[in-house]
Amino acid sequence: MAQKRKIKPKKKYIGAHVSISGGIWKAVESSVAIGGHAFALFLGSQRCWTRPALDTAAAVKFQEACAQHGFDPIHILPHGSYLMNCGSPKEDVFSKSQNMLVDELSRCSALGLSQFNFHPGASIDSTPEKCMEKIAQAINHAHQQTPAVITVLENMSGQGSTIGGQFSELRSIIDSVRDKTRVGVCLDTYITTNYLFYINNVYIRKHDALRARGVKTFEHDEDVYIFFIF
Ligand SMILES: [Zn+2]
Repeated sequence: MAQKRKIKPKKKYIGAHVSISGGIWKAVESSVAIGGHAFALFLGSQRCWTRPALDTAAAVKFQEACAQHGFDPIHILPHGSYLMNCGSPKEDVFSKSQNMLVDELSRCSALGLSQFNFHPGASIDSTPEKCMEKIAQAINHAHQQTPAVITVLENMSGQGSTIGGQFSELRSIIDSVRDKTRVGVCLDTYITTNYLFYINNVYIRKHDALRARGVKTFEHDEDVYIFFIF
């Protein structure tokens, strides 16, 4: 049972990607249990393109738990399904990904969350330029279909044909998103190993550096997120 702990205002909010096993509100309890001030979570199974509708009672429980423990929605960042490839050259995969993005943003709204983070996509046998155009197209479509949730693009390691290994690629996508108030970037500090720099006065350090300084991080969590929005 998670203790009833209210988060005090801080300059930095640090947390982990927590499980939703047993119910989406369990993510809040898990974050409290490990002393998180922020958290990331999946909004459903990573194995299925179609998911059961979000249970209204579960959504209410999630919002109540957030309020009880003092988690502001701005410090909660859902992570998109790994199945999604909004830049896929395959029409069926693109279409399913586009629909899933709309579904994910709708779930965020129902949970009272204001941001949604996802891996931009991969060009496979297409070109990076075409891939980036498709990603922006999927984002624009999702913005039209859903209320004000902000789509947050995560930077990537640049493996294979993935987009987002270069900040210029994220910039290209953002340039083609019509509503600039609804797009941002999540910097994955685990893979951004070559960068140590300041953004908005936040010193971005890699995972190991945080742990060495005694900040509580976890062996199985690959990502330590520090959030910012352009
Ligand atoms: Zn990620």
